[in-house]
Amino acid sequence: MEPSKRDCIHQVKLLEGPITPGFSAMLAKARLTADEQSTIDQAMMRRCIALSAAAAKQGEFPFAALIAEGSRVVVEIANRVVRKADVTQHAELLAVSEAQRVLGRKDLSSCTIYSNIEPCAMCSFSIRETGIGRVAFAISSPMMGGFSKWSVLRDTEISNVMPEAFGGVPEVIVGLLRQEAEQVWQDWNALAWAIIKQRGCFGSERGGVRYLHSVPRPRSILRAFATLYRMWRGFVSDSRSTPAA
Ligand SMILES: [Zn+2]
Repeated sequence: MEPSKRDCIHQVKLLEGPITPGFSAMLAKARLTADEQSTIDQAMMRRCIALSAAAAKQGEFPFAALIAEGSRVVVEIANRVVRKADVTQHAELLAVSEAQRVLGRKDLSSCTIYSNIEPCAMCSFSIRETGIGRVAFAISSPMMGGFSKWSVLRDTEISNVMPEAFGGVPEVIVGLLRQEAEQVWQDWNALAWAIIKQRGCFGSERGGVRYLHSVPRPRSILRAFATLYRMWRGFVSDSRSTPAA
């Protein structure tokens, strides 16, 4: 049988289970405990870090990003800057674009994006515009980051003034599996990594994992209707995909 678009969505091996799109995915996410979410976060980030190592072996810089909806991987992708000779081919930007295509919608508020390096300002803007609910990264980026340098990921003004266009402030997880992510850069090029760190470009954040809570955008009637419509569309989609008894 020809695989459908949904069949092409990868599953996390550690957490294999039925694909739960749309409305049921929202319910499944709501049922996750803190421990379950933490287990998923670690599995996803580990997978993202492995992808960054694979990218380095293909001559690319070791950057990768993964977008998940609950325990389901929607898309995982590495930088293509070197291979495409194009500075807009950042992993996070590519992941956001592909996730919208796979899910068939602009709104990614039910998703988490995992990145081995803190998303830059350019990528962070696309994260805010698609309303991604959670952002987790391993290594900080004090010179270019959309969190450490420019507060794109934590800015409340854009979502307060334009709640129809921008998502609320996402939950941000800083330093998740940082040492494992740094080891990939060390293995890629020890000298380059030492210079990068000495210049303070990447990796100045020390200590344990930091969690910053999300800040929802203001409620509006327009948004309420949009949310109800998305839930209804997901419910209809689930009903159609359920095989008859
Ligand atoms: Zn970027």
